[in-house]
Parts: sequence; structure tokens; C-alpha cells
Amino acid sequence: MSTENFEVKAYPEMWAELDMDVPRFDKARQMLGEVYGKMYLTQANRPEKMAYFDNMVSEIFGGRIKEMLEVKKTGKPIVGTFCVYIPEEIVVAAGGVCVGLCGGSAGSIPDAEKILPRNICPMVKSAYGFKAGRICPYFQTVDFVYGETTCDAKKKTWEILDRLVPTYVMEIPQMKKARDRTLWIEEVKDFKAKVEEVCKSEISAADLAEAIKVINNKRKALQRLTALRAASPAPISGKDGLLIEQIAFYDEPVRFAEKVNALCDELEQRVAAGIGVIDVEAPRIMVSGTPMALPNWKVHNLLETAGAVVVNEESCIGTRYFKDLIDENQTDMDRQLAALTDRYMQIDCSCFTPNDERIDQVLKEYRSSKAQGILHYSLQFCHTYNIEEIKIREMCEQEGIPYLSIETDYSPEDVGQLQTRIEAFLEQIRG
Ligand code: SF4
Ligand code: SF4
Repeated sequence: MSTENFEVKAYPEMWAELDMDVPRFDKARQMLGEVYGKMYLTQANRPEKMAYFDNMVSEIFGGRIKEMLEVKKTGKPIVGTFCVYIPEEIVVAAGGVCVGLCGGSAGSIPDAEKILPRNICPMVKSAYGFKAGRICPYFQTVDFVYGETTCDAKKKTWEILDRLVPTYVMEIPQMKKARDRTLWIEEVKDFKAKVEEVCKSEISAADLAEAIKVINNKRKALQRLTALRAASPAPISGKDGLLIEQIAFYDEPVRFAEKVNALCDELEQRVAAGIGVIDVEAPRIMVSGTPMALPNWKVHNLLETAGAVVVNEESCIGTRYFKDLIDENQTDMDRQLAALTDRYMQIDCSCFTPNDERIDQVLKEYRSSKAQGILHYSLQFCHTYNIEEIKIREMCEQEGIPYLSIETDYSPEDVGQLQTRIEAFLEQIRG
């Protein structure tokens, strides 16, 4: 697909039925198409199988919403979430759709700042602003949203968001002791009960077993993609890798896994033939830190425009989402829910204390991705990641890993300054 032919498709009638601010949203749609064309479709030597993901972006506000509305008509739940701690397997077991609603755009932040404080994380403001401004078809489609207590900005925003859309909250403990696990399992059971209440039917052990397989397969496909990115030269760009990880949060999971696996087949051929998207000499960077929700491509674009290639994202929109699988061998509901909770307890978000397993995980991924430097990315006002950055930095110093830490938001204002710092960082790696 060429830059000129690409557009994010418009569905004004459907948007009006969803009670959206159609004229304003249509401008955002056009801008997204232009940005995507410039950042993505100008990349050289892209794998052919990226065509599916280009189409997913083109249909992001139309085709995929239609599919979700079809599911909704059958009485199955459409559930919005903001965190990888909410178990999507339970929604899939009920025949519903789980969709990530994290906001990655500056465009909705002014809507949020009419009511929320300015000095909180842009991800929370962006997400809230999408609902407040009626400029997100996903938000307009969900039956309810399920937040969590991972950080202060989120947990207090849910109280305000509940005025606009039914909002429930899962208590995620902040430590991982035996008593925290007991609480967590109870919270998972409450989530299941809420999903069952909406779809007015009970989830069976067989339903859950099937859903666990479906989501495990999605995670395995993403693991396969990550392993292939370790090849040198890199067979796919970091921007494309990140895009696929972002699409994982809204695509239909069975189809998504098939398409990622088809792409991986192509990448395997590229690796065997020594074909890359960029020169073998390009500095290989691993990005670690806060998640980059769609359409936040700012840092990857800066890195790759400066001649580097991103080979790994240690992030929730990245490996933290798919590194762990659920044991598929449990057959009764209690054991399945326990196995599910055990898998979710392995997620190493900075909202936990202590969280030393993340430091080990960053080093492990640095080595397995064959990166040559780590860029730590924190969103402004994200206290837990900003403070945990100290330990990541110390680990990099100890291991002699080239390291750059940035704290930023979604605005383009600091792009020039970031560019200068990134170029200096890449020069340090090039030696
Ligand atoms: S960074 Fe933490 S709070 Fe944010 S999505 Fe990931 S697990 Fe959830
Ligand atoms: S990035 Fe940090 S502050 Fe923002 S929502 Fe996630 S945990 Fe909260």
C-alpha cells in the first residue's frame, strides 16, 4: 500500500449511531491516516505480510468496530480494559470481546484536563478524554469497563469515569505474598461474575479451557515474533513490531495469532536468506518502561529515523503482555482460576514492591534480543516507573550496558531535544 492510497476509513453513520462527535472525530481519523502513511508506509523493505496490519489500521475505526457490534448483538459482553492485569481469557470464555482502551494520543488530553488535574500521567488523561469528548468508537461500544488499582492516577480516575460509562475496579495488590494471592483470586472471581451477569450465562470450565488456549496461542505467536527480531540484520523494524503489539489489544485473537504466525513464516525466510530491514551495522536498541498505547510511535520513530533499529519492547505493550502463559492442564474451574491467577501474578509491573524480578527480566531480554543499548521510557508523572528507573540504570552501569533514560509525554514539544539525546546515545553505541 502506498502513502497516497492509504487512509483510515470513515464510517460516519455508524459513528453517529454510537453517539460520537462525528465532525471532530473525522479530523482525528484523517490525521491518523496521514501520520501512519508518513511514519509507516515510507519504511524500506517491509515484510509483505505487514499488509494485514496496515489494513487493521485502515479499519481501526470501522471494520473492527462492526465486528464487535455483531458480537454485542448476540448478548455477549464487550469489555474495555486499561491494564494487562485484567484477565481477557474470562471475557473470551464468555464469547465476548476484550479491548484495550489505554490512550496514546495527545488529541484527547484537553478534554480530560477540563476535569482531571493536568499533572497526572498522559495515558490516563488521554483515555479519559476519549470518553469525555466522545471521540473513540471503542469506548462508545463497550458494555462496561474494568479498571484496576495499579496506580493512584488510574484508581481515582475510575470514580470519575464511572459517571460516563459503567466502571468496575479490580483490586490488584501491591505485593506478592500468599495473602495477596488469596485476595487476587477473589477479585478474579468477581470479574468472572460481572462478565457472566452481563451476558446472562455461566462460563463453564470447558469454555475457559478453550479461551486459555486461544489467548496462549496469541501470546505464543508474539513470543515467536520477538525471538525472530533477535536476528541480525533485524528482519522487521521496531515500529512494525510495536504496531503489532498494539493491535494485539483490539484484534480478534484467533485471526490475529494466525496473521502473526504467517508474518513469522515470512520473517524466518528472511532470516535464513540474511535479509533485513536495515543494515547489519545499525545500532540495536531495546526499549523498556511504560507502555506505548496506539498511536504513540514517537520514540520508535525518533530512534529509527536516526538510523537505529528497535529489537524489543520490555513493556506491557510488549513482552510483559505475552512472556507468560497459563497452564492448560487444569480441568475444573477452581484450579483453572488458580492457574490463571498464578500466571497474572508473574507480571512484573513497577506498581509492585519489591519488583526485582523486573530488573532480572530486563537483563534477560537485553541479552536474548541481542540489543546493544537500553532506552528506558517513562511517561511523565508515572512515579512507579520513574523511580524504578534508578534500579534499571544501576543494573546497566554494573553490566556495562549503554543506557539512556527519557521521561516524556505525547506532545511533539520535546521532539528536538529528544532527537539530540538519542543521536548522542547512538553515537556512544557506534563508538
Ligand atoms: S504498566 Fe502496570 S498498570 Fe500499566 S498496563 Fe502495565 S501492568 Fe497495568
Ligand atoms: S504509565 Fe504509570 S502512571 Fe500511567 S497509567 Fe500506567 S502505571 Fe499509571
